[in-house]
Amino acid sequence: MLSIPDLIKKKRDGNALSDEDIQFFLQAVVEENIQEAQTGAMLMAIFMKGMVATETMALTKAMKLSGEVLSWPKEWAGLVVDKHSTGGVGDKVSLVLAPALAACGLKVPMISGRGLCHTGGTLDKLESIPGFNVGQPLPKLRSILAEVGCVMVGQTVSLVPADRILYALRDATSTVESLPLITGSIISKKAAESLNSLVLDVKFGRSAICKDLASAKALGESLVTAGNNLGMNTRAVFTHMSNPIGRCIGNSVEVIESLETLKGKGPSDLMELVSTLGGVLLVMTGKVSSLSEGGRLITESVTGGAALAKFQAMMVAQGVSNENAQSLCSAQADYHSILRRADHQTELRTHTQGVVMEIDGLVLAEVLHQLGAGRTNAGEPINHSVGAELLVSLGESVNKGRPWLRIHFESPALTPDQTSRLEGALTLGGSGDKPVRGSLIEEMIPPM
Ligand code: URA
Repeated sequence: MLSIPDLIKKKRDGNALSDEDIQFFLQAVVEENIQEAQTGAMLMAIFMKGMVATETMALTKAMKLSGEVLSWPKEWAGLVVDKHSTGGVGDKVSLVLAPALAACGLKVPMISGRGLCHTGGTLDKLESIPGFNVGQPLPKLRSILAEVGCVMVGQTVSLVPADRILYALRDATSTVESLPLITGSIISKKAAESLNSLVLDVKFGRSAICKDLASAKALGESLVTAGNNLGMNTRAVFTHMSNPIGRCIGNSVEVIESLETLKGKGPSDLMELVSTLGGVLLVMTGKVSSLSEGGRLITESVTGGAALAKFQAMMVAQGVSNENAQSLCSAQADYHSILRRADHQTELRTHTQGVVMEIDGLVLAEVLHQLGAGRTNAGEPINHSVGAELLVSLGESVNKGRPWLRIHFESPALTPDQTSRLEGALTLGGSGDKPVRGSLIEEMIPPM
């Protein structure tokens, strides 16, 4: 057996690791028999040299088996599903979709992640709700799934622990954008959930991890192959990710927008993603026979309040007080009586008149990250209250001096450079111009 430095050297020099090499490395990671610097060096070697398909598969399988693999009662056969995104800006789809799927009779044992690079993470968003516990013990996770139909948790020492450690270190070592590491991370979590069906939202564009459709397709193929090889019926939907999704970016502000969406008042781009991805899963599980019927059922579960009731029940089951959950889900919720509001708000105004053509989600996310919404070192705390609200929509005509962005911030305050970067994120066109944004859905591998 090679030593850890030998394994790093093997990968560094561009050689393929064997199944045993990968298992040995991951065992050392999980048992903490390896220095963090060595783990970081291996991540960088994988990032730089890549992996062949057999290595990616071995990595994914070993990551899945690094912890417990969940099992479900026979009555749920065919009904256990999930969705996972490769990461976006303002991407709060999971918060709306998981309860909507539960309301349609499916079981969603969602293991999510925290923010990676500039992209937001479902766990960070949920943790902005006082009391919400994303670290449920396995018997409790099973009982929440039985009673509510959806549960949202993170990786733990017993659930995909290899991803828990590598995920945090990838951010700190700038090794996020690696096809084998993304495949291992996403598919290991989903395979540990023992899903019947999985839909992947593979994002591409300026604000995504994959900057173009070609690289998203390569990633989508790797993810779908790994998912199917591990026994899950897996499909991918390729979606545009340049402008932010919806109007809010940041942790607690995205929870507020998700709750508004669950009350039937969500933005159309968010609802398009929710109904499309949910529709695919309803077809895959045989609940409906067409995507349009599936999309309609998901939309109805959101507009009719059934998904909101599931979200409320999930919050209570995961530690939020009854009173707070009820209050957040009430029609006239005073969100900031429960979700802490940042101490300061400032609004940016347009410098000219024009039509809103583009809003650069990457710039907004990077500045918010610097203001405390994201982390630079593994495990460091974030400020859930830091965020931004778009005050204009694509295609809208705006006058000079119109407020277009509200930033919620604390310490550190915005620097002149950050303000000028944010100002550059808005592109205005002439009066006859129209933004190109149509559907966010570029392409879908049809469900089987
Ligand atoms: N989501 C994950 O869970 N892992 C990744 O690597 C990227 C997105």
